[in-house]
Amino acid sequence: MSYIFFGPPGVGKGLMAKKVSKKRGIPHISTGDLLRNAVREGFSLGKKAHKYMQMGMLVPDDIVIKLLKLRIEKEDSKHGFILDGFPRTISQAKALDNSNIQINIVFDLMASDKTVMDRITGRRICAHCGAIFHIKNVPPEIDGVCNECLGHLYQREDDKPKTVKRRLEEYHKVTAPLRDFYRAKNILIGINTERPIPDILNDILSHLK
Ligand code: AMP
Repeated sequence: MSYIFFGPPGVGKGLMAKKVSKKRGIPHISTGDLLRNAVREGFSLGKKAHKYMQMGMLVPDDIVIKLLKLRIEKEDSKHGFILDGFPRTISQAKALDNSNIQINIVFDLMASDKTVMDRITGRRICAHCGAIFHIKNVPPEIDGVCNECLGHLYQREDDKPKTVKRRLEEYHKVTAPLRDFYRAKNILIGINTERPIPDILNDILSHLK
């Protein structure tokens, strides 16, 4: 079974995908993470992607699709996976459609722009294991230190307010219309994320039974 976690930046796709991935034993595949990794490792695709990411713009489809294909070919994706941050354009959705991968549910995670802005600018990520925290909503036990592995917590460059505004505009213009694409396929389920994390998680899990 494969799922898409859809929604604006900062709505909690990564956090929820990580939790569901643990519960269901299927990998969480974030194209944002794949891209950041490609940048960090100095891969040629990463070099091309970097300038778009810094500006809060979408990376060209061919780069993202190439990286995703390489990831999905790995053994651990054979029995399904969770896509986080993909697709973000109609042509990405069509590429996924043409790839013979069956998506069972698209979870449409929803929150207002104000909520999302607060969530993103307060977000902190573990440099070692990728665990996600929030300075107010999900604070680490020790300031700046990961609960899971004691790694250092950092703020993503593109989580700063000016870039977040750009990313939100891009989401509304280019990505949000994809809802209609999946609604027409009858696999879109709306999830209100303006409530406590355990409630959101239970709502999602109730659809996986
Ligand atoms: P995320 O971690 O999902 O917020 O993604 C961080 C950045 O990576 C985005 O602002 C984009 O620049 C880029 N990115 C991630 N996924 C995609 C995608 N599916 N298509 C284009 N760009 C992407």
